[in-house]
Amino acid sequence: MSKNNCSYCQKKSEPSYKEYEVMSKYLTQRGKIVSRERSGMCARHQRRLAQEIKKARFLALLPYVVYET
Ligand SMILES: [Zn+2]
Repeated sequence: MSKNNCSYCQKKSEPSYKEYEVMSKYLTQRGKIVSRERSGMCARHQRRLAQEIKKARFLALLPYVVYET
């Protein structure tokens, strides 16, 4: 049985677009969502996070694409 490294499970919290600053650390430098292998997130929270990131993007809290400068 593998250890659950999901930070949302550990904190017993849910991803929320209101916490876009927390979610932003699950984005790569280019603004893509990091893979589950790298984030250690469980499938449920990964799905939830993707939904909330979409919401945050729609509200312009997070960028769609980060252009390299
Ligand atoms: Zn989880």
